[in-house]
Amino acid sequence: MPDSDDRPVRYATRDSDGFFEPPFPVDPVALTKQTRKTVCMKKDRVVYRKYTKFYAVGVYGGIATAYSVGCNLRCVFCWVDWSRDWPEEYGEFYSPSQVYSNLRNIMKVQALRRARVSGAEPTLCPDHLCGILALVNQDANEFDLFVIETNGVVLATEPDLASRLAQYASRRDRETVGHVRLSIRGGQRDAFEEKTGCAKEFLDLPFVAVERLWDAGVSFHVAVVVDSRFTSEQEKEATYSRLAEIDPSILRNVEEETLDPYPHALVRLRAVGREDIVGKEISGRERSVLRKRPRE
Ligand code: SF4
Repeated sequence: MPDSDDRPVRYATRDSDGFFEPPFPVDPVALTKQTRKTVCMKKDRVVYRKYTKFYAVGVYGGIATAYSVGCNLRCVFCWVDWSRDWPEEYGEFYSPSQVYSNLRNIMKVQALRRARVSGAEPTLCPDHLCGILALVNQDANEFDLFVIETNGVVLATEPDLASRLAQYASRRDRETVGHVRLSIRGGQRDAFEEKTGCAKEFLDLPFVAVERLWDAGVSFHVAVVVDSRFTSEQEKEATYSRLAEIDPSILRNVEEETLDPYPHALVRLRAVGREDIVGKEISGRERSVLRKRPRE
């Protein structure tokens, strides 16, 4: 997996024989380290993180959203804009208190009681994320819910993060308003690699993350990609069976995800040969996204 040399990792492509082209499949742990160098910054003992925007959307019944830059997976159906693949080109650094205050302003203007950190992978800079959560916790009466969305790689590889999150997102303490939404992209080795662009030996990471959240008493639910264009019934069953092994009650709150054909997803899917989904002709939406793609 040749991403350890710090060559930038953009989006997955396959050659005419259907094989991933280098550097894919990649190592998500190495990609975590590499991406952190670009999107996390420590200054005067405060950890800043890159974001591209702050806005409100209708999901979760209306929620203020901080859109973070950079991810440590390379899902082929990912809808996130080019900031995922060219994190050095996008976003500005914000401190936890700046993020918090931007979210609170949106909540006040739009009369919302929910907020989240979303975008690519919000846990890439754990101290920064916990800094935001500490501020949320201080004002918990202003929130019904604060959602942390994640793919679980950092939770699996950094064992203390789950217990840190439990302070702000606890299943047992009703005073906390945090809640983790953990996405599971694959339940079998080959399918995991095909969907995430990451090597199959890392399949277990999201399941380890579920175990850690469960053991630490974090309030969370799991989102599973069940879209039949990407996930077979057999793979879905394998995923559910692994979750049930951790605790059968986890299955009660699973969110089943189907995927929307957002423009960046179309470009990424075409690059791995999924013409069965995107069609033979390049659409106007794809062209428009391709025109904005940064140059190497
Ligand atoms: S779908 Fe989510 S986890 Fe996958 S690459 Fe995009 S932002 Fe990262």
